[in-house]
Amino acid sequence: MEKKLYIETYGCQMNIADSDVIASVLTGDGYKLVKEAGEAGLILINTCSVRENAEKRVLNRLQQLRYFKKKNPGLVVGLAGCMAERLGEKLFDAGDLVDIVAGPDSYRDLPVLAAEAVSGKKAINIRLSSCETYSDILPVNSGHDGISAFISITRGCNNMCSYCIVPFVRGTERSRNPESILKEAGMHFESGFREITLLGQNVNSWRWISGNETMEFHTLIARVAAIDPRLRVRFTTSHPKDLSDELLKTMAEKHNICRHIHLPVQSGSSRVLGLMNRGYTRADYMKRIESIRRIIPECSVSTDIISGFCGETDEDHKETLSLMEWAGFDFAYMFRYSERPGTLAAEKFRDDVPEEIK
Ligand code: SF4
Repeated sequence: MEKKLYIETYGCQMNIADSDVIASVLTGDGYKLVKEAGEAGLILINTCSVRENAEKRVLNRLQQLRYFKKKNPGLVVGLAGCMAERLGEKLFDAGDLVDIVAGPDSYRDLPVLAAEAVSGKKAINIRLSSCETYSDILPVNSGHDGISAFISITRGCNNMCSYCIVPFVRGTERSRNPESILKEAGMHFESGFREITLLGQNVNSWRWISGNETMEFHTLIARVAAIDPRLRVRFTTSHPKDLSDELLKTMAEKHNICRHIHLPVQSGSSRVLGLMNRGYTRADYMKRIESIRRIIPECSVSTDIISGFCGETDEDHKETLSLMEWAGFDFAYMFRYSERPGTLAAEKFRDDVPEEIK
């Protein structure tokens, strides 16, 4: 097999950043990155599992790759990311198209998994880690523009929102060492990037404890912004319960921290927020928006909303609409509730809102 690697990324910005880690690990093992699947000896698809449709897209893509497998029998195809973690061994049943299954915490192991697959074995590693942050791996651009760079500062999530698959496929939350984050940010600036987005499922719960010292997220982002005033700094995704006034004041002081906060609300009904186990009420959320408006009046706010969650009534829905009216969001990602197997909601609640209503 020619050591030519083609990476295809689906899903969120965390996956884009992870694909850069994958590219770094495998180019470090002698692989050359190629831009076309047809040129590759190893094809890795970095997958998403957040909604059913995301997985269906990957399964369809796999069928398309059958053509390349026929043309090049030595071709190795692997699935990485959240769907790989969720489905594991089952993916080897997908018509013998999959040779490698690699979960989000297994990327250091990819050279070994690839060698096993080249020798004709099915290779899998879906062990989740409580400490892996890839902090010592300098990312290699796996194929996105040279302007915006993404730096994962936390991995995993401890929030256990009842509809969410993330804690099951990305594990518990862990923060990355601040020195490695600042080093990577400096490297990106020196190599021409002019915008950096700090990433985490719940980015503002990043915290670093060393000895008696505790560094909070607002201090970290201030240090990233201090690298150079020409560097634009962003962060996503925030959780309303961890969005502190200290962070808002830091944003107000640092002009190169972009005036935008992505603050998922998911629902405007406190009853539904309770069922979702979001950890805040409608009133709590509105207080956060008021703080943003008070401390950074020009700040744009975007959000995520799920329609038709289990048991949602028309009254609940009206509360979501009235909160959207009140908040005046700049944009929103809006999705129908998609039941994810293994989540708390799938275990405890019936997906009882008809699709057409959703
Ligand atoms: S905060 Fe909730 S929705 Fe977001 S990744 Fe964590 S569990 Fe999922």
